Amino acid sequence: MTGAPPGDPHGGQPPIEALASACGACRRCGLADSRQQVVVGRGNPAARLLLVGEAPGAEEEACGQPFVGRSGRLLEAMLAAAGLNSERDLYIANVIKCRPPGNRKPSRAEIEACRPWLEEQIALVRPQLVLLVGATALEALLGIRGGITQLRGQWLQLEASPGPDQPAPSQASKHQRRPSKRVQGQRTPSPRSPIRWPDPGEGGIALMPLLHPSYLLRHPSEAEGSPRWLTRADLVAVRQRLGV
Ligand code: SF4
Repeated sequence: MTGAPPGDPHGGQPPIEALASACGACRRCGLADSRQQVVVGRGNPAARLLLVGEAPGAEEEACGQPFVGRSGRLLEAMLAAAGLNSERDLYIANVIKCRPPGNRKPSRAEIEACRPWLEEQIALVRPQLVLLVGATALEALLGIRGGITQLRGQWLQLEASPGPDQPAPSQASKHQRRPSKRVQGQRTPSPRSPIRWPDPGEGGIALMPLLHPSYLLRHPSEAEGSPRWLTRADLVAVRQRLGV
């Protein structure tokens, strides 16, 4: 006899697959009307490193996996060159789970509608390191608008701190409270993250903005100081911090 154990809310599925199934039925925003299928995530959900991009494109939508088109192949090659294995060392997701028509940027309303899915993914993966790939991810996860070219390659530290909007401990579970966050970075203006993060724990969560591979496709130079050269160096720094 098969079936989920009594009391199993996921019907026997691993939580990350249950999330993908639930996401597949989502109609919280208008992108549900034009999608072929949702694109939720790939890689290792037990990894300490989470990579978040913007939204799926045509190739991603066709096969249901993020970062598998031209941008994804470039990203994959750069990860491998830095010594990172995308199946083992990281979990890959996007801010938005359905493809915006014409590959336009997702709207603020769409990002907000999709935020609970991203928060659930983050809560399941519980990453120690997060890569914010492109300006949309930087804004959606940290509330920082613009400045990706200045912030790329910098580690930003996310730490829980008591704040005026923090619920009393009795009103929130240990892992689902919405603490006020301080992001400590050399040139970062202490934004308030719109995301409900899991408790960062003693080590905090370190985040690094990265240039989006679609931008790198438009800037093919590999010369020292070029966007690709800088991104390769950023990924080496990520691998070193991850210690793999
Ligand atoms: S983009 Fe997100 S919120 Fe909108 S329908 Fe798809 S899964 Fe739901």
